[in-house]
Amino acid sequence: MNLLRAIAEIGKIPGTKIRAISGFYDTQPVGQVEQDNFLNSVLRIETSLTPQELLSELQRIETDVFKRKRTIHWGPRSIDLDILLYDNRVIAEENLVIPHPRLHERRFVLMPLAEIDPDLVHPQLDKNVAELLRSSDSTEVVTKV
Ligand code: ADP
Ligand code: MG
Repeated sequence: MNLLRAIAEIGKIPGTKIRAISGFYDTQPVGQVEQDNFLNSVLRIETSLTPQELLSELQRIETDVFKRKRTIHWGPRSIDLDILLYDNRVIAEENLVIPHPRLHERRFVLMPLAEIDPDLVHPQLDKNVAELLRSSDSTEVVTKV
């Protein structure tokens, strides 16, 4: 399973330790492209890498390990590794936005995140994950597997 492979690869990133892994959540895809359901999970890691260094490592895994090509946006992909939060930092660089801009509106992110830490506060919205989940009006069907 790609998700297990990705977790193993993240565990091999230099200076990085996995501290928590959520359950796996089956999600109907967003967008118009016809495709199979996604499987989503959230990890908590501790790392000595900067946010940009971490992004490079994740993109290296996407490209080298999964041969992911950057083609159709929101289309089928073998894996998608995103940085959701990094401490309580707010970053708006050309290639890196943290907190992840769609984090608060995606139940397939909020549900596994809440499993790991419902009290984690979104540094821009000033709400914790449990509150974000309650205020999300998304209709995505997300099921823990
Ligand atoms: P998405 O994850 O939004 O479905 P992609 O995985 O194709 O789309 O990401 C496109 C670009 O998003 C990447 O090239 C990367 O530079 C940028 N990006 C911006 N912020 C982040 C983030 N927090 N985590 C991962 N990628 C990000
Ligand atoms: Mg991505």
